[in-house]
Amino acid sequence: MATGGTIAMKSSPDGRGAMPTLKGRDLKDLLPRSLAEIQVEECCNLPSAHLSMEMAWDLAQRIRRLVARADVEGVVITHGTDTLEETAYLLDLVVETAKPVVLTGAMRTASDLGYDGLANLAGAIRVAVTEEAQGLGVLVVLNDEIHAAREVTKAHALSLDAFKSPTFGPLGRIEGDRVVMARSVVPERIPADRLNPNVYLIKLALGMDERFLRSLLSDPQVAGVVIEGLGGGRLPPWWLEAVRAAVERGMAVVVVSRCPGGSAYDAYGYAGAYRDRASLGVLHAPGLSGLKARIRLMAALGAVGSRSELRRYFE
Ligand code: ASP
Repeated sequence: MATGGTIAMKSSPDGRGAMPTLKGRDLKDLLPRSLAEIQVEECCNLPSAHLSMEMAWDLAQRIRRLVARADVEGVVITHGTDTLEETAYLLDLVVETAKPVVLTGAMRTASDLGYDGLANLAGAIRVAVTEEAQGLGVLVVLNDEIHAAREVTKAHALSLDAFKSPTFGPLGRIEGDRVVMARSVVPERIPADRLNPNVYLIKLALGMDERFLRSLLSDPQVAGVVIEGLGGGRLPPWWLEAVRAAVERGMAVVVVSRCPGGSAYDAYGYAGAYRDRASLGVLHAPGLSGLKARIRLMAALGAVGSRSELRRYFE
């Protein structure tokens, strides 16, 4: 399934910069035929910064239909790397299948020396037809590494080695034409038949005031907020009143760590630390980044009948 991104981009001859140009069909034609029997679906051809939540949800519905087909062994999605981790995690949560679903992209365009798109796509296809990749949820393959959707992040804006799983590392590697899996993960599903898009993400910084959170409080449309707290999720004491008000008004407040790895957890006894937040009714999403917790909260809000059921999907 082709959605665009740098893997589909070429520089325009007039010097106006690289644009989505290659279709999924063009990419397929550049691959060795021996890799797999490939059917192409063209979804869109966009930079991933131009994708909306509706488009990501539509993609999930298309993949739900594809994996239900007996003649489909696995699904590979080409995607811009900027938001790839978010689409991957959404699919991981809502596409219930043991078949491999693998996202890939490229850091260099097809006009650049050292274009990585074809090697990444070939690697993703190899993973999609590998038995050991079954039952692991959605995977992300770039630069010969295989990552779990819920763990991976784009950690470098330019490097070919851009994708990392900071807490535990990759699940496996592509070694030539072999797929070598080193560890496994158990996917967690949320049976959502819609997303609630009214969820916002705030990143905390030293000494920052709580006006973003207060501005959300005054908007009745807002259903949830994810706060990337300091270290193990710590909130400054001057944030706590607004957090309490958000919980009281029925908003789902999820706190994660702003650190690239680890979880929002600690054993401290001071204001804004883990126990204090939990006593305020704040939810936690262990091991998830703010980007992923936002997607999880959108799916969870779409799956539950009432706010009290949200705890099923959060700590
Ligand atoms: N700008 C690109 C995107 O569509 C970046 C990439 O694909 O690497 O996300």
